[in-house]
Parts: sequence; structure tokens; C-alpha cells
Amino acid sequence: MSCGMSEAPRNSSTGPTEAAAIAGVPHASGTSAGDVPLEKTPLETYVPPAKPSLIGLSRAQISDHLAAIGVAPAQRRMRAQQLWHWMYVRGARTFGEMTSVSKDMRAELEKHVTVDRPEVVAEQISNDGTRKWLLRLPSGNNLEKPHEVECVYIPETDRGTLCVSSQVGCTLNCSFCHTGTQRLVRNLTAGEIVGQVMVARDRLNDWPSASSPPGEEKTHRLVTNIVMMGMGEPLYNFDAVRDALLIVADNEGIGISKRRITLSTSGVVPNIVRTGEEIGVMLAISLHAVRDELRNELVPLNRKYPIAELMQACRDYPAASNAKRITFEYVMLKGVNDSLDDAKRLVKLLKGIHAKINLIPFNPWPGTHYECSDWDQIEKFSEYIFNAGYSSPVRTPRGRDILAACGQLKSETEKLSARERQALRAMAMTD
Ligand code: SAH
Ligand code: SF4
Repeated sequence: MSCGMSEAPRNSSTGPTEAAAIAGVPHASGTSAGDVPLEKTPLETYVPPAKPSLIGLSRAQISDHLAAIGVAPAQRRMRAQQLWHWMYVRGARTFGEMTSVSKDMRAELEKHVTVDRPEVVAEQISNDGTRKWLLRLPSGNNLEKPHEVECVYIPETDRGTLCVSSQVGCTLNCSFCHTGTQRLVRNLTAGEIVGQVMVARDRLNDWPSASSPPGEEKTHRLVTNIVMMGMGEPLYNFDAVRDALLIVADNEGIGISKRRITLSTSGVVPNIVRTGEEIGVMLAISLHAVRDELRNELVPLNRKYPIAELMQACRDYPAASNAKRITFEYVMLKGVNDSLDDAKRLVKLLKGIHAKINLIPFNPWPGTHYECSDWDQIEKFSEYIFNAGYSSPVRTPRGRDILAACGQLKSETEKLSARERQALRAMAMTD
């Protein structure tokens, strides 16, 4: 980890205070000498494109753009709704396609705004259908290279899950996470978050054809589930993530049910309750350790919000119920957190919480000193929690397939490594 509060932003016009406000970091980081910094300072700002995209804007914000091009007040609501439908039900990529909108208005819109999504710079398709897109986003200054985030589609027999990023990099420094080592951090806008869903549906050809009769637009879908488990800590970019997820869930648009949207957090306690109240999606907690001492090391944010506080926030989570369980993510790290004693403590810790447990095989990256637990150990761990009443994806036959290759790279030439896909698939199993 190279970034701390003391490091001066390189090539950046953004000072530390301003930058912290931009990222919505609620507290200053508390580091003691010799410790890994709990948080690092975001270095980049967002520079809007010359012509803004309507993707990610609320209906009211779209109405404001309509006002700016002279649409009469009485017409704005209806027109905004029309655009909404073209963008989010039909997937229109240009105003030209929006045939129910008058030619004059389309021409006026084209002069001032777009319906652009983030630029796709690379697409990787694996044999099992997993697809990964590298998206390029504008950066805060010309001296830095453009920002890139990943978005991954994981098809299963009964669903297709899209793993979406919330930030470029992450201000947090979880010791087993590659994203945590990245120096650049900037929040994504709501448009860039919704834009990832748009890109995935574009590339998968997941929009209804022009001939689909009204009402039948949503019958066959490839992207059925969303997990906010890509780059970044979504609860450090709360407003944009909320606005984006409400658009993705909007029934008159993309319409993915909130039960099929899961937000994963490393434990930003104050924003967990807000997630329940203001977004209402499913919650996943990156627990990874059952003792504060170890969790402080794996997820340094634990020093600010220790396990007991985190568990209380989960007990209080407004949207939790037996039918809407909270997922506890637990990355399996060999010899670190994978003992049977850890499994016992985990079960004890979750008592009284509507919970399910998602064991994730560790996906190694160059330079990490962690290893993925042995299959035998994962099985023993999973057996214990299963006997205690928690099902775990690694126990399903499909889970076995997914994990069978843990520790062995299938092929050097495969762009998405077997282990990366295992980890992704395990993460995607949120219900
Ligand atoms: N910042 C959020 C969401 C993004 S990370 C969070 O931490 O919850 C999504 C999940 O991937 C988290 O549970 C995270 O701990 C886990 N993860 C990160 N790096 C990993 C790795 N190398 N192998 C397996 N899981 C990892
Ligand atoms: Fe950030 Fe999540 Fe990675 Fe931790 S695990 S560094 S919170 S992305």
C-alpha cells in the first residue's frame, strides 16, 4: 500500500481535504505509527464530458435538460418519461432511434446531451460464458492515464449476474484485495454505475428487439442479478450508488428487482442503515474474520467499526428478514481464517441474524502473501457451517465444480484465470 493521508497527490489539482469530500469519506483516517493506513486519500476528480449523458440522471434532472432546450413545462414530464422508456426499456444508444420523439426535439437533444455509456476498451470472453469488460472513464487531469474499471458478467443456469464497480480503486486497504493496492481513487458517477449495466446489456444483446410488442420487453433477460462487488467500496460513494441502483430497479425501466440486487460492503456501519432505508437492496457484508485482531489486519476499516458494531448494524438492518437474509462473505485464506475454530466462532457470531454465508475461494494476485485454502479445508469448514444450518454455495454440486480447480490455473492462455472465475462465481451466489 503506498497511499496514506500524508502523501501529496501527484499531478493532481485536488487537495486532500477537497478530495476526501469528493469521495464522501465520512471520517478522517486514524492511523497509528507502523500500521497499514486505514484509508488513503482519493487523488482524482471527475471531469464531466462536454456533452453530458442522460444515463444515470433522475427524471427531474432529465426534465431540467428538457427545460434548457425549450420544452414547455406541461410537456416535460411526459417527454422525460418517453426518453426514460427509450433508454432503459429499449436500450436506445442514439436519439435517432427514438422514433416516438419528434424530429425537432431529437435534433435539439443531440446538440446538448447524449445517451452515451462508458467506453469499452477490452472484452474478454471465457469458455464458460463469463465476460469481463474493461471500461475507460475520463480522468481528472491530462497527465494521469485514463481511469479503468472492470465489470464482469457471470452466467449461471438460473440467472446472469453482473458484478458492478462503484469506484476507480478503493480508499480502503484490505490486505488480501488487489483493488486496495491501487493508488488512484475516484468515485464513479451514478451514470457510470448505471452505464455498466447498459454496456453489459449492449454487449450481450440483452435489449428487446424493435419488434417486441409493448409489455413483452422484459420476458427474456440475460442480466437478471446485480452485485455491487466490483472495484470500490459502494458505501463510500453512497449517493451515486443509491441513485444508480434506484434507476436499475425502476420498474418502468431496467426493472431488476431489489431482491436481485446485492450491495457488498466492508462494513461502513453508518451507511448500512441508510442502505436499508434509502435503497432497500440485499446486503452482503465482507466479514472474512471473526476476531477483531485478525479482522483489523484483513479489513483495516474494522479498527473504526469493530465486529460488535457491525453485527449490531446487521441486526438493525431494516430490510432484513427470513426471506431477505444478509450474506456474510468469507474469503478462504490458507492458515489465516480457515480453521474449524473460526467456523465455530462464525456460527456463534451470526446467531440471531437472518444470515447466509458465502465462502469465497481466495483469488491470488502477484505480490500477495496469502494463499487460497486447500479444498479439504474448505470442505470441512463448509461442512461445519452446513451442519449448523447454513447452506453454502461450495456445498452445491455446481459449487464443487467451481472450486474443484482451486489452486490450479487451468490454462495460462485464458485471460480470466480459473481462480478468478471461481471467486467471481462464489461471490455471485447471493441467494
Ligand atoms: N468493497 C466492497 C465490495 C467490493 S469487493 C467489499 O469489500 O465488500 C467484493 C468482495 O470480494 C468482498 O467480499 C471482498 O472482500 C472480496 N475480495 C476482494 N479481493 C478478493 C480476492 N483476491 N479473492 C477473493 N475475494 C476477494
Ligand atoms: Fe476496497 Fe472491498 Fe477491496 Fe476492501 S475488499 S480494499 S473495501 S474493494
